[in-house]
Amino acid sequence: MTAFDLIVRNGQIVTESQVITADLGILDGQIVAIEPSLTGASRNEIDASGVHVLPGVIDAHIHLNEPGRIEWEGIASGSRALAAGGATTCFDMPLNAHPPTIDAASFDLKRQAIAVSAQVDIALWGGLVPGNLDRLEELSERGVVGFKAFMSRSGTDDFPVADDFTLHQGMIRAAALGLPVAVHAENDRLTAGLAAVAIAAGRTTARDYLASRPPIAEVEAIERALLFAEDTGCAIHIVHVSTGRGVALVAAACARGIDASCETCPHYLLFTEDDLVRLGAVAKCAPPLRTVDEREALWDGLVSGILPMIASDHSPAPATLKEGEDFFAIWGGIAGAQSLLPAMLTEAYHARGVDLPTIARTTAGFVARRFGFAQKGQLAIGCDADLALVDLDAKYMLATDDLHYRHRLSPFVGYRFQGRIVRTLLRGETIVQEGNIVSPPTGRLIRPEPGATATVPQPIA
Ligand code: ZN
Repeated sequence: MTAFDLIVRNGQIVTESQVITADLGILDGQIVAIEPSLTGASRNEIDASGVHVLPGVIDAHIHLNEPGRIEWEGIASGSRALAAGGATTCFDMPLNAHPPTIDAASFDLKRQAIAVSAQVDIALWGGLVPGNLDRLEELSERGVVGFKAFMSRSGTDDFPVADDFTLHQGMIRAAALGLPVAVHAENDRLTAGLAAVAIAAGRTTARDYLASRPPIAEVEAIERALLFAEDTGCAIHIVHVSTGRGVALVAAACARGIDASCETCPHYLLFTEDDLVRLGAVAKCAPPLRTVDEREALWDGLVSGILPMIASDHSPAPATLKEGEDFFAIWGGIAGAQSLLPAMLTEAYHARGVDLPTIARTTAGFVARRFGFAQKGQLAIGCDADLALVDLDAKYMLATDDLHYRHRLSPFVGYRFQGRIVRTLLRGETIVQEGNIVSPPTGRLIRPEPGATATVPQPIA
């Protein structure tokens, strides 16, 4: 009889408080021992000498576009890219699939697709849109992470703006269901108005696009969403915050007792407005890339702990939607899921001295705790053995051929990274080795634990 299915030997184990040299013992897909020189028989061993072992990334913000727009990405290709980037779990957004995930029937369509082609575990966000308030309960019963709403236009006609009435009413319902609401926070009147004026005047360059989505549009919408959350008692999560003021508003809301959190994305931490002008359509997103000062304010938030989560907002599209003279007409969305962890290792750890426990917390541990997945996100006994093994010192330039996306378009191509994912394990099984997918798709549809409640972010000292 064997004590373990797998022992990962001599790795540098990254917990949320320290980095220790130890062995990981894995049985039935879970971590059952963490100690030096583990004894006991094991079916398999991995020599992780010289390698750092982090919890697999939990990417809270992904658009896989299946069903309905599988030609944009799809669960198979998108989840392979996640796995190659060291992710083991993602939360798929309700829009860009068609139909969008706004009721039980559309949830079930995604469930079927996940069952056949998911390389990583996937949980689903439900949508909050005008007209589906009475569907939130059935989505909750299906096991959604929470409900996503857009305060400005989403870019797809089948996922309309949540007007203030819908957002406020939706938060009342979500609070009763014990689920968070995630918002894309930009003021629609302001951004649409500025865009219309620019387009009418024939001003449609990247700079004109940037000017149409100023920081105040984000800051005002975040403030409004936080007030709604305070009024309704709903837990709120602000997605892809791009400004220092936005992060500060969320932190201030937490301090006055609002159950609030936020995320930013690697592209806001690595790129600026000038990069959008340089790179063009491949780097278009909303809110847009910002100034150097905003980028630095986001880094300050990450270092101080008030910015608790990194998510990719992977939002790919076919090349034909990422070209053209009119920058407003180009699809807004960045493909970046595969680069999240390498970006953090390169720019957070190596360039800015952010410690590895903080990276583990912001890319996995806090994400799991915030959204009720106690089984995930930590190298701790009893958790799923979801691991990212990384060679911290390996330097490379990301090449188009490295990408597993359906469309190999990403602003991260050409970026010089330091920190390579050498192996990814899902529940103790190797799914990626040296950039290659080495297992059939064994990802599962997962749901928040019954009774689990999301918590206000608390940086661990
Ligand atoms: Zn998104």
